[in-house]
Amino acid sequence: MNKLLQNAISLEALTSLFSQAPVGLAILMGKEHIIANANQQILEYWGKGDHVIGLPVIEALPEIANQEFPGVLKSVFETGETIKGNKVKALLEKDGVMLTYYFDFIYSAVITDKKITGVSVVAINVTDQVLNELKLQERELRFKEILEISDYSIAIYRGEDMIIEFANDAMINTWGKGHTVIGKKLEDTLPEIKGQPFIGLLKNVFKTGEPYITTEEKADLVIDGTLQTFYYSFAYRPIKDVHGNVEGILNLALNVTELVQARMIAQNTVKEYRDLAEAMPQIVWTTDENNKIKYFNENMRKFLNLEMDAISDYDFSKVIHATDYINLKRTWDKATLEKKLFELECRFFDAENDKYIWFLTRATPVLDDRGQIKQWIGTCTNIDEFKSLAAQKDTFLGIASHELKTPLTSLKLYAQVLERMLRKTGDETNAEFAKKMDAQIVKLTALINDLLDVTKINSGKIHLNKEYFDFDKLVAETVEEQQMSTSCEIDLQIEDAGIVFADRNRISQVIVNLISNAIKYSPRSKQIIVKVMQAENNVKFSCQDFGIGMPLDKMNRVFEQYYRVSGVEQTTFPGLGLGLYISAQIVERSEGKIWVESVLEEGSTFYFSLPLSQNENI
Ligand code: ADP
Repeated sequence: MNKLLQNAISLEALTSLFSQAPVGLAILMGKEHIIANANQQILEYWGKGDHVIGLPVIEALPEIANQEFPGVLKSVFETGETIKGNKVKALLEKDGVMLTYYFDFIYSAVITDKKITGVSVVAINVTDQVLNELKLQERELRFKEILEISDYSIAIYRGEDMIIEFANDAMINTWGKGHTVIGKKLEDTLPEIKGQPFIGLLKNVFKTGEPYITTEEKADLVIDGTLQTFYYSFAYRPIKDVHGNVEGILNLALNVTELVQARMIAQNTVKEYRDLAEAMPQIVWTTDENNKIKYFNENMRKFLNLEMDAISDYDFSKVIHATDYINLKRTWDKATLEKKLFELECRFFDAENDKYIWFLTRATPVLDDRGQIKQWIGTCTNIDEFKSLAAQKDTFLGIASHELKTPLTSLKLYAQVLERMLRKTGDETNAEFAKKMDAQIVKLTALINDLLDVTKINSGKIHLNKEYFDFDKLVAETVEEQQMSTSCEIDLQIEDAGIVFADRNRISQVIVNLISNAIKYSPRSKQIIVKVMQAENNVKFSCQDFGIGMPLDKMNRVFEQYYRVSGVEQTTFPGLGLGLYISAQIVERSEGKIWVESVLEEGSTFYFSLPLSQNENI
C-alpha cells in the first residue's frame, strides 16, 4: 500500500499535476522572487510565455510593481506566514493591453533545511465571478434608484416581524416618520395602524405566499402630529427565496386620496342636485345622449306611477296626447339638430283623474367638450290651471267683443246717416264731426275684430275660406285702398307674381296690418315701399318702412300674442299687440311663412310668402 502511495506521488506525477492543474501555480525563489516554476495556467494569467522562467517576477511582470503583490511576496518571504487573498484586483498586461483580473490567492513560504528559500503561489482566476457580482450589485443599485424615484410608494419588509428593509422617499413621506424607520418593525413605526387591517393582511401574505392587491383602501395615518385619512391602491407581494419560502414582502402603494375625495365631492354634488330636483314642484328629468330618460324625480314617478328601473321600456305615446306627441317628437328632433333648448305645451294623461292635463315641457341640451349633446335636462310644469284661465279669458273676450259688435254696427250706420243729413242741411262743421265719429267707430271695430280673431284662433275656430286668386291684383287693390286713408306715400313695386290658393280676405287683412304698422311706426318718415315678386315656388310680399325699427333680440317675438316691443318711444303708439300674431297665424295656416328684418331707428321690412298654386288653369 505504501509502495503504491509512493508511486502515486512520484516526481513525475507531481510534475504533471503541477503543470496541468486548472489553477495557477508558481514557485518564486530567493529574495528577488525568481520564477523557478510556473505552470501553464499561471503563465496564461500573466499573459506571458515560459521564457519568463528564470527571471525575477518583477522583471517578468513589470506592471505589478505598483500593485500589492510585491509587498505580499516580501512579507511572506520574510515572515514565513501564509497570506491569502480574496477577489484581489490585478492589472496585467496582455499583448500590450492592460487587463483587469480578480484572483483568490495563497502565498506560502517554501522552506528548505528550515530556511525560507522562496514563496509558492497558488492563484485562482475569479474575474468572471467578481464581474457577475459587480453587475448584480449595480443592477440592484439601479433597481433601488428606480424605486427611489418612483411615484409609487415602495417598501420591502423582511421576515415575519415585517422589519422595514427598504422604503423609497414616497413611502417615507407617506408614513411621515422620517428615514430612521429603516431597520425597525412596521408595527412600531406606525403605531396608529393598530386596529387597521394592514398588519393582519401582511401577515397573511407572509403565511400563504399569496399576493394581496386592493384599490382605494382607507388608511388613517398620523402626519405632522394629526391623524389624517388617506386612500391608497396598493399591493403586498411576497418575496420568496430560491426554495420558494416567503422571506419578505414588497409593498407598492399609490396615493389616490385626491381622486377619491374629488369623486366624493362629485357624488355629493350629484346628490345635492338630486335633492334640488326632488324639492322642485315640477317634474324633472334627464336623458342620455340618445334621449333615453335616465333620471326622473319623485313628482314624475308619482304622476306616471312608474319605478326607475321600468323607465327604459316605458312607452310615452301612451301618456302624451297623440297630437302633442307628434309635435314633441318634431320639436325635439329640430332642437337636437340645432343643439338648442326647446319649449312645448303638451297634454299628459292623468290616470288618477282620468283626464289630460296641460304641461309646459322645457328641455335644455348639455354639451360635452366636443360640442356634442351628452344629455338633456328637462322639466314639465303643470300649466293646466293657467290654460283654463286663459281659455276663460278668451271665452270672455269672445262674448264681450261679439256683444260689442252689434251696437257698434248700428252706431256706424247712425254716424253715416247723421253725416249725410247734416251735409244736406249745409251744416258742414257738424258733418265733419260725424265723419270723424265714423272713423273712430271704424278703428274700434278693427280692435274688436282683432280680439274676436284671437279668440277664434286660440279655440281653433278660425276658418279660412280658401279660393284661387291673383296675388298681385289683391296687393294692388289693398294698397290703393290704404293709400286713400293716409298721407304717407306707398311706393308699389309689383311683378306678375301668380295665383295662390288661400283666404283672399284674410290675406288682405295681413297686408293691411303690415302696411298700417309700417305707417304707425314711422312717425317721421312719409314713405313706404311695398314689393311683390315671385321667389322659387312662392309669391313674396314685402313692406319696408323707414321708421323706429326694433332691437335684434325683440324681432322674432313680435309675432307672439300680446307682444309689444318695450321702449320709451315704442309705448307711445296705441295697440293691443295682436295684429302680427293674427297675421302670423293666418299665413302659417295658409302654408306660408312670415318674418321680419329690422334695424333699430332705421326701419323694418316685414315679409310673408305663400306657395304658388300649381293649378295653371285658374
Ligand atoms: P300693435 O301694433 O297693435 O302693438 P302688432 O302685433 O301689430 O301690435 O305689433 C306688435 C309689436 O311689433 C308692436 O307693438 C311694435 O312694437 C312692433 N312693430 C310692429 N310693426 C312694426 C314696425 N313696422 N316697425 C317697428 N315696430 C313694429
